[in-house]
Amino acid sequence: MTQPTSSPQANIPSLDLLLRHPAAGALMAQHGRTAVTRGLRLELETLRAALANEVNLPEPREILSSVANRLEAQAQPGLKPVFNLTGTVLHTNLGRAPLPEEAIAAMVEVAGKPANLEFDLETGKRGDRDTHIEALICDLTGAEAATVVNNNAAAVLLALNSLANRREVPVSRGELVEIGGSFRIPDIMKRSGAKLVEVGTTNRTHLKDFEEAISPQTGLLMKVHTSNYSVEGFTAEVGEEAVADLAHANGLALMVDLGSGTLADFSALGLPPEPTPAKSFADGVDLVTFSGDKLLGGPQAGIIAGRADLIAKIKRNPMKRALRIDKVTIAALGAVLRLYRDPDSLARRLPALRLLVRSVEEIGAVAARIAPVVTARLGDSLSVEIVDCASQIGSGALPKESLVSKALRLTPPGSKRKRGKALDELAANLRRLPVPVVGRIHDGALHLDLRCLEDEAGFCEQLVKFDFGAGQ
Ligand SMILES: *Cc1c(COP(=O)(O)O)cnc(C)c1O
Repeated sequence: MTQPTSSPQANIPSLDLLLRHPAAGALMAQHGRTAVTRGLRLELETLRAALANEVNLPEPREILSSVANRLEAQAQPGLKPVFNLTGTVLHTNLGRAPLPEEAIAAMVEVAGKPANLEFDLETGKRGDRDTHIEALICDLTGAEAATVVNNNAAAVLLALNSLANRREVPVSRGELVEIGGSFRIPDIMKRSGAKLVEVGTTNRTHLKDFEEAISPQTGLLMKVHTSNYSVEGFTAEVGEEAVADLAHANGLALMVDLGSGTLADFSALGLPPEPTPAKSFADGVDLVTFSGDKLLGGPQAGIIAGRADLIAKIKRNPMKRALRIDKVTIAALGAVLRLYRDPDSLARRLPALRLLVRSVEEIGAVAARIAPVVTARLGDSLSVEIVDCASQIGSGALPKESLVSKALRLTPPGSKRKRGKALDELAANLRRLPVPVVGRIHDGALHLDLRCLEDEAGFCEQLVKFDFGAGQ
């Protein structure tokens, strides 16, 4: 320790002196001069404040080591991969669908170089970014035309604003959905400039309710797929076909927000049925919107497909520019859509579908392989069992359906009532691993649903870094 003379502050080493220290040179090589200077200034300020309360003056070496820790933490990206063992496959907070290799390769291909994003290579003139995916979407859905925006919320907002600004849009009261977060049909409708006209009741809506709601002010009829809940019991809803006929008889169009939507035949994959754009068009629907990163298994995007005149109107809306997607997303979405051209290989090549159709036998085999590893590492402080569980599809898709799965159930000692704190600490310590592990606390234990664990080796290897005391 340097001996303080008059005031401890007076003995704090100067910024210049610290910058000439050999340790500072090493730091600058790694983080750059600007970051090191800024870090040292901050450290010295903190030190000055602390010394007012009589703290021993640290050596320059110690000051620099503290700055090194701070710079190291800043150099780490905030966004990083995690192990999603929550049991929710398309977890919105964990980034929804994992992308297939083909999509990742396509993104890398265009990311670092110029690309013909809005450039027609035939004519050498300005092109339209939708051309790279529009034909694929039309092929796969039977739509006349299509366009793509930032996400499905943007798709709904843009379609409503383009087709029904200052006009009325009747929607069944049973379909006024809220999707987790902040997407609510009444709110998005208001922001789009369209005026919501609620028809029918929460549990029953009839065709005559729609008929009575139509007026000269009506701009569009709309149906919303009630993706994240279901109304049961004494219920009635009007199907797409009947509403489409009614719309057309009145010179109007019918738009359907499909929410997740899928281009695959889910029954052939052994999954519960989910509406497809192709079925909607066969029913006479004029326009559909759906997400790119839900059951489609692609990047975040919102797809609008349907009648060519309606799509043309949407593309002319200046709001389209504000909601458009970038070249990297177009590359990824194109690659994912091309996988759909060969439905037989989809369940193997598209990770979202592969995880959804993964059999309980296969998941059980994963559990049998990794349970001993987890027990060896954590088994002294808690019990590790393999249990049956139910995975959710997630993202509001098919809310009533669950998929039979297997989980590791980690139970700290003690009575169920008193385990709360230990469970929170266990979950926090797993989240502190280099690739954080996110499970689900349920019924007095931490459950790691293994449906989405594909990188078993990576999971097991990092367990040696598990720190029992990190939470304390
Ligand atoms: C998920 C969903 C949305 C929002 O889609 P994002 O892609 O998350 O913007 C809109 N409507 C319905 C019915 C949905 O299920």
